[in-house]
Amino acid sequence: MSTDRCAICERDVETTRHHLTPKNRKESPVAAICESCHRQIHAVFTNHELKHRYDTVAKLRESAEMRKFAAWIRKTDKEHVQVDETERVRDWRG
Ligand SMILES: [Zn+2]
Ligand SMILES: [Zn+2]
Repeated sequence: MSTDRCAICERDVETTRHHLTPKNRKESPVAAICESCHRQIHAVFTNHELKHRYDTVAKLRESAEMRKFAAWIRKTDKEHVQVDETERVRDWRG
């Protein structure tokens, strides 16, 4: 991991690599996203939704879920936050 700018919340923090098309990791473009936003992405969206509806950073950023999360996390001074999976994603994971 390296310090970079998160593509979602735009904080300068350590980032992780998010594969924009999870099912096809080898050819998938990757985005630099901080750990908290990254966890949030996988907590609110299923891989199916990521692949079909949120396969670019712009689409992720425009989603109501991530907009709300980014606005909130910019106001906290925490680099890492606890993220709970939504029930919907938990059901999907089984
Ligand atoms: Zn972030
Ligand atoms: Zn990811």
